[in-house]
Amino acid sequence: TIGMIAIDGDGKIAAGTSTNGAQFKIPGRVGDTAIPGSGAFVDAEVGAAAATGDGDVMMRFLPSMAAVEMLRGGVTPYNAAVEALARIARVFPDVKAGIVVAKKNGEFAGACYGFETFEYCVVEALTGQVQVIPVSCFSLS
Ligand code: ASP
Repeated sequence: TIGMIAIDGDGKIAAGTSTNGAQFKIPGRVGDTAIPGSGAFVDAEVGAAAATGDGDVMMRFLPSMAAVEMLRGGVTPYNAAVEALARIARVFPDVKAGIVVAKKNGEFAGACYGFETFEYCVVEALTGQVQVIPVSCFSLS
């Protein structure tokens, strides 16, 4: 999956995901990326999230919407990212999943579960500078 969140200078937010369906690609499959709330979700008053991983498992939990709803309730982007994935992992411990979460004010975080390595990029709009941020995946305790 390629997932993106963009916030402009006026605070307008957009998010989207695309996938090659790396796993489980069968004819007619829609998958998670096309489903609002699963692949990506935006609430202009709160923030956005975009998710990647085992889509056929993740789509049952709408992790992007869950993370944005947690932001709305005052949860930090990192804690929202972890909890959105932990809800999946508690039911499907073998899932591979990652998510990036951004608040409208520009605070952001990423989390992952089950991947050996996971990283995401942040682009500074004014300079175009790209920062690659590695993430250590959490495990359930
Ligand atoms: N979520 C994507 C899918 O299941 C795969 C991926 O994230 O790489 O199609």
